[in-house]
Amino acid sequence: MEDNPFVKRWRKGLRRIALVYPNAYSSGVANIGLQFIYAYLNSLENVICERFYLDVHNCLRSFESGTPLKDFDVALFSLQFEEDYFNVVKILKAFKGLKIAGGPCAMINPMPISKYFDAFVIGEVENSVVLDIIAEAKSVEDLKCEGIWLKEGRVKRIYPKKLDFYLRRQIIADNVFGRCLILEIGRGCVRRCRFCVVRQIYSPLRWRDTKLLIETAEDYRGVVDKICLVAPSTLDHPKAKELIAQLIDIGFLVSPSSTRADKLDEETLELLVMGGLRSLTIAPEVGSDKLRDLLNKGLSEEHIINAVEIGREKGIKGFKLYFMIGLPNESFEDVKEIVKLVEKVRSLKVEVSVSINPFVPKPHTPLQWTPYTGIENVEEGLKEIKRRRDYLIKELSKVCEVNVESVERFAIQTILSRGNEDVSKLLEAKPSLRLAKKMNLTRFLNKIPLDSELPWDFIDHGYKKERLIDEFIRAVGSE
Ligand code: SF4
Repeated sequence: MEDNPFVKRWRKGLRRIALVYPNAYSSGVANIGLQFIYAYLNSLENVICERFYLDVHNCLRSFESGTPLKDFDVALFSLQFEEDYFNVVKILKAFKGLKIAGGPCAMINPMPISKYFDAFVIGEVENSVVLDIIAEAKSVEDLKCEGIWLKEGRVKRIYPKKLDFYLRRQIIADNVFGRCLILEIGRGCVRRCRFCVVRQIYSPLRWRDTKLLIETAEDYRGVVDKICLVAPSTLDHPKAKELIAQLIDIGFLVSPSSTRADKLDEETLELLVMGGLRSLTIAPEVGSDKLRDLLNKGLSEEHIINAVEIGREKGIKGFKLYFMIGLPNESFEDVKEIVKLVEKVRSLKVEVSVSINPFVPKPHTPLQWTPYTGIENVEEGLKEIKRRRDYLIKELSKVCEVNVESVERFAIQTILSRGNEDVSKLLEAKPSLRLAKKMNLTRFLNKIPLDSELPWDFIDHGYKKERLIDEFIRAVGSE
């Protein structure tokens, strides 16, 4: 059941815009950017906007009224995960109107999916004319404006300079964070982790004023009891502690969408426990401080152990640790360090679960040129990363619960992330690494020469490529 203040009834003459989220309802409804788009489009006199989710009629009928997708004039897709492309291709078979996509995947590299859309929104649409243009557009030519890429030339990302607005009325539903009000407290990140695409495509750092956030929360007193604070690095908000304390004071449970171990001091953890936190997720990313420095994570083993110790004292029972394998310059010794770190955490007599992902070198990051698995020869790299994965499963399952993501699946993700238009041929098939190899697409797993032109070079995110190259050399040593 959801509490939706925006439902609009269809009447003749309204332009129908489908807001399509090709993944689960619970994550789609938690996306506050999509909520803004939905509310804004429905506020326009001549438009009705309805939502589509993969687990509701397979995205083929709307969530609100069950209207078929094919009856809509415009389909506006949100591309949050590259693996959703396979769903997108199926959904679009039923649609003949204007096809537009936005979201982080469009902002990172839309080339692999470009053939299926007429246009891509590159950036954040609030305070721009993009939604008004989309609402009026009858053809692709009508979509010409700043922030919309019409599949040729360069495009500069758009974004609001200040976050001095907020969606005061939002849909309250059971979402991935539970039934809660979502408070997006900022965009961009003050840190410079070299593997992180989020900071690159949402820069510059912008925080929301706590006054605006508290006022928004006040409107929901008695409606929901929980608030989720959302930002790439939530606890870096300069007034994070004051904000959490005030929200607790006015009667809410509060949980942050992300936590960094170096921000988890006694006071913060005490507040978070008062706010209802019972388990803590920490991302050491790697086992050794050497590799954490390569990633520029700004986190040491001491920070991690301290955070667990303080958390345990404050009453937190469970700790989830996230790691990656397959990084450049990673040795087997570094992988062993993951086991040692987990054992150290485990020795503090807390419950631990571990999640391990193969590293995906993302476009626009300083590590974008590195080979998948971190090893130059892809075949050797795939063998070696599996050896490292098997070692971790064997050793870690002796001390805790372990979840390890598939090496093949993340290889496909890398191809979808770093590929060009050629990758589209993989999207209509049942994806497998073997098929990708047959189609000559595993070349996108290779190390990329620093002087190559990249499929995503046409997107201007406001950074200089030379700066990324400098960072790459600083991290990895040399080409
Ligand atoms: S702290 Fe998190 S969001 Fe910020 S740069 Fe690092 S990984 Fe990205």
